[in-house]
Amino acid sequence: MIELLVLSVLALLGLIGAMIVSYYDPSFLRDFWPNFFSDFFVGILIAGLVSWLLSRSKRVSAKMSVDASPVGKSIFLLRFSIENNGRVSFNSDEIYWHVFIDGNLGMVGDLSCTVTRPAEDGYHTYSEDLLRHPLFPGRTTNVLTVRVRAPRSGKYNIYYYLSTAHGLFPKGIKEHADGGFFFDTLGKMTVSLIMTYYCFLCNENHDDSPTEEHFIPRSINGPEEQWLPVCKASNTRSNSIFDNDVRDILYMARHQDTKILKRTGDALLGDGTLKRYKFSYDEPRALEGEDAFHYFFDNESNKKIPSSSVYAIKFSVGLDQKEQETFCRGLAKMSIGALAYLLRKEGIQSRKIKLLFSQTSIDSIRHFALKLPWLGTPIFHRFSLGRTDVLSRLQRSCKNPLISNHVIEINFQEKKLIRIEGMLYSKYGWQLDLSNNVFIDLGVLRLENAISDMSAPEDLRDLTLSPDSICIINPQYRGQKPTIPQGWRNSRDD
Ligand SMILES: [Zn+2]
Repeated sequence: MIELLVLSVLALLGLIGAMIVSYYDPSFLRDFWPNFFSDFFVGILIAGLVSWLLSRSKRVSAKMSVDASPVGKSIFLLRFSIENNGRVSFNSDEIYWHVFIDGNLGMVGDLSCTVTRPAEDGYHTYSEDLLRHPLFPGRTTNVLTVRVRAPRSGKYNIYYYLSTAHGLFPKGIKEHADGGFFFDTLGKMTVSLIMTYYCFLCNENHDDSPTEEHFIPRSINGPEEQWLPVCKASNTRSNSIFDNDVRDILYMARHQDTKILKRTGDALLGDGTLKRYKFSYDEPRALEGEDAFHYFFDNESNKKIPSSSVYAIKFSVGLDQKEQETFCRGLAKMSIGALAYLLRKEGIQSRKIKLLFSQTSIDSIRHFALKLPWLGTPIFHRFSLGRTDVLSRLQRSCKNPLISNHVIEINFQEKKLIRIEGMLYSKYGWQLDLSNNVFIDLGVLRLENAISDMSAPEDLRDLTLSPDSICIINPQYRGQKPTIPQGWRNSRDD
């Protein structure tokens, strides 16, 4: 309408101008018609341009968008917003939005006004609401925030349409005869939900599915809920380095309860010879008069030999050299695992933990834990084993000092040093110092795990380096009894 008015006014002005000019110059009328036609075409051209510009300034348009951010293990926050990308304002109550979220994404927490309904494109979680306030051109407003759990990393489709006072958006939505919409004509938003997690064992971020690393192995009563996300490769490696053997190494811890042990020791054969054997012994069965030794394996040939040919066996209470090394690798993993776990619990970001773990001291201990080649300058790890003093102090500080406890305490109080002290079963204590240049204002952090069905040892003496040994006479032995070497019988047995 405006363009027509503008055109008329321009034409009228032209006519008045022509009349004035022809009054003074009679030759004007002679040239009038050729001039008129050329001016007419130019006029149409200008009018078209003006009307195009005017229609652009009145374009009505709105669109929906979504952004996703990770907020936990496989949990993402989806924030939906509507943008007025046209030139005309929407008034309040003029936009009715509808979204269809991929049904594979599980909703976390309550989402009011939501139903799951089947759609042509699989199941979707549907949500809708009326935008209560106006939306001015160029403005964006948040309309919906939901938490979803993604089953795996990947791309997920979300569909939408906006029903407004100016029609449906996006344009071109096709309706079914029964009132529904053709899904492929709705607005489509694709979100990439990539799960990233930090693996303290390889000190890297990953975007595949994490595995659970119980840094205190469950086989030695590590609590179920204390774990960190780690990559599969690191978890497998950590199992093979330490976790698979720890139960046997710390056999003494459960021996007092179960009287079952798997161990390596010296065996005395019927003919008086001594040999190193791996064996498995079950005392309750021995008391019932059954076969108490499940097996004897020759350490050298790894061949099973009949238990009836072994007269007695002797094994140490403390850990031998090889066991000490494996144990230290395990302690290294438990120590830095507890460090990462407690820092995470305190809300320290993965970025800072990664920075801390990148320092030579922790990086080298991580390599040691996983038996990976260390190419940096050689580092002497300040492990201190057999710490009866640490045992007594930590046990005294436990909520229940009458039962067995696993404790790991991390002290940040000294400058440039992280001191980690711990004990397992109130029987094995250790201390590990790690030099540190990252500022952490946390004091002392502590993990205390009570093992309720295991009473505390009567005498708090660290077993790691114990010189004691235990001798067992095989109840199934048949034949002539050889003489037991001197020093085999433990003083406690006599
Ligand atoms: Zn890893």
